[in-house]
This record gives sequence, C-alpha cells and structure tokens, in this order.
Amino acid sequence: MNKHPTIVLATTNQGKTTEIRDLLKDYPVNIKNLADFGPIPSVVEDGDSFDDNAYKKSSFTARVLGYPALADDSGLVVEALGGAPGVHSARYAGANATDEQRCKKLLAELNHKTNRNAYFKCVISLAVPTGQALTYEATCEGTINNSPAGKNGFGYDPVFYFPPLNKTFAQLSVAEKSKISHRGKALRELRAEFDKIEKWIDRHMPPTEPINCAASNISG
Ligand code: IMP
Repeated sequence: MNKHPTIVLATTNQGKTTEIRDLLKDYPVNIKNLADFGPIPSVVEDGDSFDDNAYKKSSFTARVLGYPALADDSGLVVEALGGAPGVHSARYAGANATDEQRCKKLLAELNHKTNRNAYFKCVISLAVPTGQALTYEATCEGTINNSPAGKNGFGYDPVFYFPPLNKTFAQLSVAEKSKISHRGKALRELRAEFDKIEKWIDRHMPPTEPINCAASNISG
C-alpha cells in the first residue's frame, strides 16, 4: 500500500498544473487533478487578496473531496496601473477572454507609459479537509514588454520580460521558468519542508470511518 500523501491540485488551469507537477515530480506524493474526480462546483474567487482566494480554493476542494488540496492564486501586479490586474488577472478582459486578449488589453492600457515595472505574485495554500492550511508565497519582478514574444507558458508570459535572462517568460522552457518564477520559488519553499508537511498532513487528516457493506448486495 502506498503511504505517501495524496494531494489534489485545486486548479483547472493547465499552465499552472504543468508547472506544479514538474516542480513536485521527485517528491513522495501522489498528485491528483480535479479531473480525476467527478465534476465539483467551482469556488467564487471574490477575495480581495491572493491569500484569501488561495485559501478559498484549497479549503473548499479539501472539504469537498476529503483529500489535502493545494491551490495556487497568482497574478500580475503592474505599477503604472495601480496594481492592476492583480487579483483580477484571470478575468481582466472579461470572463471568457483568451490569454491573447488579456495581454492585448494590458499592452493597450500601458500604451505610452514609460513605467513598465511589474511583478508576478503567487500564493500557494495547502489545506486539509478540516480547514487548517499552510501558506507559501513569492514574487518575481520584471517589466512589461512593448509587444508579445515567445510561444511557451500561459497567461501573461509573452508580455512579461525578465531582464536577468533578457527574455520574456514565454521564451523560457517550463524548467527555466520554474527556476526563477514566483510559482517556482513558492513551491521550492514548500518542498524544503516536505518532511514536516507529510507529518502535518498525517496529524490533521480526519480519521476515516469504515463503511459496512452488505456482501450480498455487492455485484460485478
Ligand atoms: P487565478 O490564480 O486562477 O485567479 O489566475 C491567475 C491568472 O494570473 C492566470 O489566469 C494568468 O492570467 C495570470 N498568471 C498567474 N501566474 C502566471 C504565470 O506564471 N504566467 C503568466 N500569467 C500568470
């Protein structure tokens, strides 16, 4: 029997899933996606901070599915736009907009602005079904390019320029991006205390109650 903890990734964002799975690939944990379970209701991300939304997603998913759940709430904070799109990064150009439309809107808002400073922020929340949670967070600073460049990644990666590598995030591979990104840094902090986390999960998981099934009713 596998004694490693099972953790559900509380996200439907394919870009985040790829990065998180890559960062945890050598760790003794069984990672599951929301798609491994039946459809569950989605959480309304109406918190006014990344922390609030990360906790909402992780605690809700853990409660509904009965497994520890890991959620990432993240976004792009642009200085010249007073911190926008910030917690509204995913819905910046409307609920059904594409990544391309979001990048386009951002570039239009920054047209003629000389201050292009921006940073990505990521808050990771790991919650157990009883509601307790651990939080990790990190940022990554860069600037907003004048036009999109690169084909990798997701979200605002094509317009987020990272000066030390002289590339946008969309010009980096998953492994290169994870070395310096907000998500990579936050997950490395989590990985650094993985032993403690395993014990913490063990201590906080509610006891499982045996279910008595009548053998005669079981078929197939
Ligand atoms: P949420 O955390 O699900 O609310 O969505 C975060 C949104 O921020 C994503 O849909 C992206 O638009 C953006 N975002 C977060 N992290 C990244 C990243 O690493 N690269 C590009 N865009 C990101």
